[in-house]
This record gives sequence, structure tokens and C-alpha cells, in this order.
Amino acid sequence: MHVAVIEETPVLGGLIANGLCNTDLLSPGGSSGIFEEFRLRSQKYYQTNFANDPAMKSIPMAQLGFRYEPHVADRIFKEMFAEIPSIQVFYKRYATKVLKSGGRVTGVVTRDTNDQNEMTFRAAVTIDATHEGDLLPLAGAKFRLGREPRSLEEPHAGQIYMTHDGEIFGSGEGDNKLQAFALLATVKDYGPKGAKPVPAPPGYDPKNYAPEPTADTFWLRGGALPNHNTN
Ligand SMILES: Cc1cc2nc3c(=O)[nH]c(=O)nc-3n(C[C@H](O)[C@H](O)[C@H](O)COP(=O)(O)OP(=O)(O)OC[C@H]3O[C@@H](n4cnc5c(N)ncnc54)[C@H](O)[C@@H]3O)c2cc1C
Repeated sequence: MHVAVIEETPVLGGLIANGLCNTDLLSPGGSSGIFEEFRLRSQKYYQTNFANDPAMKSIPMAQLGFRYEPHVADRIFKEMFAEIPSIQVFYKRYATKVLKSGGRVTGVVTRDTNDQNEMTFRAAVTIDATHEGDLLPLAGAKFRLGREPRSLEEPHAGQIYMTHDGEIFGSGEGDNKLQAFALLATVKDYGPKGAKPVPAPPGYDPKNYAPEPTADTFWLRGGALPNHNTN
């Protein structure tokens, strides 16, 4: 297959290369497919370059390649893509229009995020992998938002809540809500000598980034990564 990947950012790998660096698996055997290929490359990279790193010495998930820095994930995905010459990536581009012939999608018109220039892609198959389903409204396709109500077939669907102690409750009703967006930061400890103060960006207001005051409404979990990073 000849594949054109259209990616809005300069980074390849989506969430995995943008902050989700602390893989949450109950058992390492749960990894498979493309992610497993990625995991083995991550493991090789850190075993080769960071064998004596504190995280590599003490954290089994880091030793197995399940903990990695965002820029390393980006590089691994770019290496994996480069090995498949029939894939071409178009960075910093997003779809503005869906082309159709009758009821069938035949491609997309895209725009460059910097200079706004347009490029049209025609394809036998167009896949919307944008996570938020950006192409659905552009294509005029029917879609639903939110969760399905609880039913005999789906006993875990609908509004469901779990306390930190594991108590489960909720009405089981459906709704039309989207899952909340999460902000995941990866920070590096440069040590007392190497500390690099980060200048505040224009318009920065710390109040907008403060966690909620109670542990019931915010999700905060540290995860040590190799190379003195924390997720
Ligand atoms: C905090 C957190 C914890 C999680 N924990 C787990 C877990 O423990 N186990 C698990 O299995 N899953 C977990 N997930 C979910 C999992 O990470 C995601 O479901 C998965 O990474 C989604 O992959 P994706 O390729 O569908 O989308 P993404 O990784 O979001 O990739 C979408 C890509 O499309 C690009 N894009 C978006 N819109 C456009 C556009 N209009 N034009 C062009 N490009 C666009 C983005 O830049 C991105 O590169 C977690 C998610 C979060 C946020």
C-alpha cells in the first residue's frame, strides 16, 4: 500500500510521543503488535545508552522499555516509518475538507499549519486517526458523542464512578459528554548545578495550571523515567 500520513504536529506517535511515557500495564505480557515493536526498540535504546541510569537499575518497567522520554518515542516512530518506503509523512498539516464521490470518501484537502498552503490527497481508503474524529463532521457523516447506557450486553457501560478505595457506583445512564482532556508534563531533574530556569511564556497564569485541591478530582501520579525525567 502507498500511504500518506498527515500529521498536524512535527512529532510522530500521538499521545505516546507527547507525554504518555509511563506505560500503565498490569502485566508486561499485555503488550503486542506495533506497540510491542516500539517497546523492544525503546528497551534496546535505553539498555545501550542508559544502562547505569537510576531508573534502569531499579524499575522493572523501565528495564523492559515501557518507560521512555517523549523525544525518544518520536525518534523511534520516525525510524520505524523510515524502514517502510511506501509510507510518506506530511507534517504540520491538517484536513480542512473531505472529498466525496456520492456517499464515499475519496480523499482530503489539507492545510499547512505555518503558511496555510493547501494540498489535496486522493486515496482509495481514508482513515481518520485524529483521536477526536475531526473528519466525521467534515464528511457529513452521522456520529454520536458520549457513552452508551448500561445494558445486559454492556454491564460496565454508562455513568460509572470508582473511589480510590475501589468502591464502584453510578447510575449507568448514557450521556453526550466527551472525556476530559489531560495535560501530561515530562520534567527533567538537572541536579543543583545544572538547573535551568524556564522563562514563563507570554500570558502564563499559574492559576490555570494548578491542580484541583482535593485528591478526588485530580489525577496526579509521578513516574520516574530514564535520564532523570519524571512523568
Ligand atoms: C493520561 C492518559 C492515560 C492513558 N493510559 C492508558 C493506558 O494505561 N492504557 C491504554 O491502553 N491506553 C491509555 N490511554 C489511552 C491511549 O494512550 C490512547 O487511546 C492512544 O494513545 C490513542 O492513540 P491514537 O493513535 O488513536 O490517537 P493519538 O495518539 O491521539 O494520535 C492522534 C494523532 O493525530 C494527530 N491529529 C489530531 N488531529 C489532527 C488533524 N485534524 N489533522 C492531522 N493530524 C491530527 C495528532 O497530532 C496525533 O499525532 C491513556 C490516555 C491518556 C491521555
